[in-house]
Amino acid sequence: MAELIDGKAIAAEMRQEIAADTQALIKQGVTPGLAVVLVGEDPASRVYVSMKEKACAAAGIFSDEYKLSAETGEVELLELITELNADEKIDGILVQLPLPEHIDEAKVLEAISPDKDVDGFHPYNVGRLVTGNPLFQPCTPYGIMKMLEHTGVDLKGKEVVVVGRSNIVGKPVALMCLAEHATVTICHSRTQDLAKKIAAADVVIAAVGRPEMIKGSWIKPGAVVIDVGVNRVGDKKLVGDVEFEAACENAAAVTPVPGGVGPMTITMLLYNTLVSAKRRAKKTLRF
Ligand code: NDP
Repeated sequence: MAELIDGKAIAAEMRQEIAADTQALIKQGVTPGLAVVLVGEDPASRVYVSMKEKACAAAGIFSDEYKLSAETGEVELLELITELNADEKIDGILVQLPLPEHIDEAKVLEAISPDKDVDGFHPYNVGRLVTGNPLFQPCTPYGIMKMLEHTGVDLKGKEVVVVGRSNIVGKPVALMCLAEHATVTICHSRTQDLAKKIAAADVVIAAVGRPEMIKGSWIKPGAVVIDVGVNRVGDKKLVGDVEFEAACENAAAVTPVPGGVGPMTITMLLYNTLVSAKRRAKKTLRF
């Protein structure tokens, strides 16, 4: 039977460390601050935003919410970001995605100062990740790397198969594994014979968004499985992208859904905000 990789427990341990570091920084006169910008009324986005604010409060991080109506224009949103870029109380700017269709997401993400880009989506930070000199790394993939580290998984020379090539999970996690000297294969919707690719993997990272599409029988005995997928089936039940119980038969370690990758994402947002505030304290901002 596989070991469970307990994201909740790892996240709780990290959040304690973040809270302690935050208190130390506050004593030096710098309170880490996060601005959370929400445009529109998307119910899932509202839930995420309120979870992020609660997590900030618990860690002692100041957070300021900007709730804008769904009709807010692109210019108005860009003006707010310009203000937040200049606001000395703010170390991180988070624009909750998705944005309404009339707003150009790429333009908005590029307007955030790379020094305050705690989501790690600005092309400057993406470029630094690609070139192996990261500043802010995207929270979900960064959380996955912290989980692997906590579990004692050494990626050097390992075969890692990432399923999914999104900008927020698949691509960045593949780059992070490459930086740890893994041999990385990225699979997507046009990949041929996914089962064969998975069967060769020492580590599988699934970020697809399709309930249990990766079969437990495909997993190589002794592999590590990180399931990023969050899929609602029926009224309440959440399942991942991997057939959990069947995967547990073969794998050495598996993340559950929920309670796996999810809690790590917000933890890394707090972590990045703290890192940004430490850079402010040391006056090492670049932009
Ligand atoms: P996207 O929809 O942006 O990307 C999904 C990827 O899966 C695409 O690259 C797509 O390929 C690929 N894909 C789709 N169908 C198949 C298939 N049949 N075989 C192989 N690959 C396939 O999703 P995200 O990356 O944003 O999210 C993925 C999942 O992770 C979702 O369930 C999401 O809810 C969850 N998630 C969880 C987070 C957390 O904190 N726990 C945070 C972020 C996401 P192609 O590019 O060819 O279309």
